[in-house]
Amino acid sequence: MVWLQEVEHPAKGDKNIVELGMVENIEAGEGSITVTLAFAKHRDPLAEYLIGSAKAAIIRNAPAGTQVEVKTIIKEEAPKKKPGLDLGFEELSEVKHIIGIASGKGGVGKSTVAVNLAVALARLGYKVGLADADVYGPSVPKMTASEADMPDAIVNGEQEVILPLEKYGVKWMSIGYFAKPEQALIWRGPMACNALKQMILQVRWGELDFLLIDMPPGTGDIHISLVHDIPMEGAVIVSTPQDVALADVEKGVNMFRNESVNKPIFGLIENMAWFTPAEHPDEKYYIFGQGGGQRMADKYGIPLLGQIPIVQSIREGGDTGEPAALSTRPDGLAFVALAEKLAEILK
Ligand code: ADP
Repeated sequence: MVWLQEVEHPAKGDKNIVELGMVENIEAGEGSITVTLAFAKHRDPLAEYLIGSAKAAIIRNAPAGTQVEVKTIIKEEAPKKKPGLDLGFEELSEVKHIIGIASGKGGVGKSTVAVNLAVALARLGYKVGLADADVYGPSVPKMTASEADMPDAIVNGEQEVILPLEKYGVKWMSIGYFAKPEQALIWRGPMACNALKQMILQVRWGELDFLLIDMPPGTGDIHISLVHDIPMEGAVIVSTPQDVALADVEKGVNMFRNESVNKPIFGLIENMAWFTPAEHPDEKYYIFGQGGGQRMADKYGIPLLGQIPIVQSIREGGDTGEPAALSTRPDGLAFVALAEKLAEILK
């Protein structure tokens, strides 16, 4: 072995063939030495050079007259794992429509709408899943009162597959089941992207009519990467009627229409469109302005899918984990109407 350390590999930073693990075997008999060198590929351009150098090194060091033979074998290198996750789309193979639920900024009620839309679609008889990909504030566990639950995993070949939780007729998955809220906040860039991909691609969704993806708010790199990595059919955008929020809608629209993303936007959902007090269900107070959602939808040539009022029961439903869309109150039915419209467009 020591003798063979004299043989340096010119293409590997002059490391010797011993430290490169190329010396597969050494057999020393009476007056003979046979060395086997392992090469990673059949036509290694340096093979002859290395065989000759190995032979010369042994002849230099061994007693005179020793018979030296150098044999070779081919050892294919194990394929290198690509950095990041290498997940396929198998678990999505029975999902008909994958729709991103996006918003230009946080706090417009995107998660509330996503959760209630999922429940409303299930009420209409569709098979529905929701992946809560809002790494910076996962809300599905709280909004469905399943914080204490932990999804199971099963082993599928070499990979684990996560089983979604099922409640209210919907299959749920959230990064919040695996990370404490304060942990999620520190995730950045590739780490967040990988966690999100896993949360969508490594989940046994089974047969679904709709898989909604509650996207993180905003329009950064993480969104672009999410839209690239997940075979989303398109998106819906949630906004409030406020001017500021509407300016953010523009960013959201542009993100999906960007050349590198280029996904259809199926519609705009105007959340908090008006305020209706519980004791006066017929009254509408346009506290954030009136008609903003329609104007924006017209401007971008996308349908206004629905208007959801701001009512106390929607907020309470989010806090208690019983989504408003389960009820027969007007706010519950507003979500059902929204679900009908989306299903109609995607039919
Ligand atoms: P986002 O996902 O856009 O950050 P959330 O869905 O978390 O926003 O909603 C923010 C807060 O507003 C929550 O407390 C939620 O209950 C409340 N909320 C959202 N939509 C409504 C609504 N239509 N009526 C009453 N409260 C709402």
